Amino acid sequence: MTDAHDYKDAPVVAIDGPAGAGKSTVARAVAKRLGLIYADTGKLYRALALKAADVGISVDDKTGIEALCGETDIGYRYIDGESRVFLDGADVTDKLAASEKVGELASALSALAEVRTALLEVQRSLARPPGLVMEGRDIGTVVFPDATVKFYLDASVEERAGRRLKDLLAKGENVTFEEVAEQLRARDERDRNRKVAPLRRADDAVYVDTTDMSFDEVVNCLVGHVKRGLGNAEDDETGH
Ligand code: C5P
Repeated sequence: MTDAHDYKDAPVVAIDGPAGAGKSTVARAVAKRLGLIYADTGKLYRALALKAADVGISVDDKTGIEALCGETDIGYRYIDGESRVFLDGADVTDKLAASEKVGELASALSALAEVRTALLEVQRSLARPPGLVMEGRDIGTVVFPDATVKFYLDASVEERAGRRLKDLLAKGENVTFEEVAEQLRARDERDRNRKVAPLRRADDAVYVDTTDMSFDEVVNCLVGHVKRGLGNAEDDETGH
């Protein structure tokens, strides 16, 4: 599908990186600034995890997971300019946010080839005018290897754990810095070392270490690169 895709009419901005690097908030802001569609692919894996947990299927039950993929309808819908994730017809977006339990299960499920294959076309189908900013772990390497511009957002584990802890405490979850840091390390390890579509920086991705950057600096940096990538740099504000 990517070969036939017209990237001129529908450019694709791919943002990958480890958990807690700020991909979601940054990607949303970049999409807004550029007038593009925004998609957070982690939410697709989280939606499947939610269903697996609800029906009580374990990740070790390969046949059960395969059947679950076949009978589950997961996709995005745009409501008031915002992308919402629907699971079997119901909007589950708000249940998927920063729950570490669902994130853990999503990470385990995402290592399975049948799960990745089931969610691939849903992701590719979003590449349509006016264009897309999509974030995840394998967007620049597998989902859109020919993306117009690719980024790899990174930050130290300490910085990522600090940011994630703030989000989780604000949501009322009862966790410590050490627990969050340990979960991030385990998740990174699994995402980087799985056989199918492991987390890695695409050779042509712009590497952005956000550890010492403010949110606005990161967004400006990405917007500047995208504008240059699209041949439209007249109001470029990036210092990076
Ligand atoms: O980004 P988020 O933490 O919501 O993603 C949950 C999990 O889904 C990740 O830890 C990762 O294992 C998996 N994932 C993936 N590929 C993507 C997006 C998410 O494997 N494109």
